[in-house]
Amino acid sequence: MPTAARQANIKIVLVNTAHPGNIGGAARAMKNMGLTELCLVEPREYPAPRAVWRSAGARDILTNATVVETVDEAIADCSLVVGTSARERRIPWPLVNPRECGERVWAEAENHKVALLFGREDRGLTNDELQKCNYHVHIPSNPEYSSLNLATAVQVLAYEVRMASLADEKGELPALSEWDQSMATAEDLEHFHNHLADTMAALNFYDPENPKQLLTRLRRLFNRVRMDEMEVSILRGLLSAVQRKIK
Ligand code: SAH
Repeated sequence: MPTAARQANIKIVLVNTAHPGNIGGAARAMKNMGLTELCLVEPREYPAPRAVWRSAGARDILTNATVVETVDEAIADCSLVVGTSARERRIPWPLVNPRECGERVWAEAENHKVALLFGREDRGLTNDELQKCNYHVHIPSNPEYSSLNLATAVQVLAYEVRMASLADEKGELPALSEWDQSMATAEDLEHFHNHLADTMAALNFYDPENPKQLLTRLRRLFNRVRMDEMEVSILRGLLSAVQRKIK
């Protein structure tokens, strides 16, 4: 796949950004590192002149940016979703460091769309948003002062993708193993999780009023497995059969 097409498979998703200057700064960071796809989820102030100023020569990235209302819409067509986090969260999730993140994102962009999620300046990504991710990535900053400026965090992770692409050009990036099916997208998985939750509720296996950590744990399980389209469709067929039986 040509480099530009691969770059176009990598989406930088900024969630609910408060300061338009950060959107411009992120656009500039992306263009410097050869990334093109910017997606804004519910930006608090956008379009905005401050975003254009901060983007410097990267206005084209802003012009082409898509604006959507939910994270689900932003990642619907992506088969790898990586969430960034300025600190440790309560429930552990598969983690990659920025270098591994760059390599994995670049390698997988050969086969499908990939999203890198960035959170709000004041409180990052919500637990719900982080639970939609296959991996979390933390830039190993000073633990006493761990939170980078949003556009700076985009810069660091975009740089790692760049380094991976340059290593790949020299044949230094290990190839992914072959697979016979396409990986499921985040949208397929969202439907699967809803179907699973409905079926479990119908079986009285869990109480929707008091889900505790069950749904989170199941999300973590299936996000870790990286199901392909065929596997999701088999499991959904199974859930439908269970639902028919208990009706
Ligand atoms: N107070 C917030 C900080 C958010 S910083 C919190 O504790 O979550 C805004 C965004 O910048 C984060 O959501 C993340 O996308 C990115 N970011 C900042 N510091 C980071 C770090 N050390 N590692 C990875 N992403 C970081």
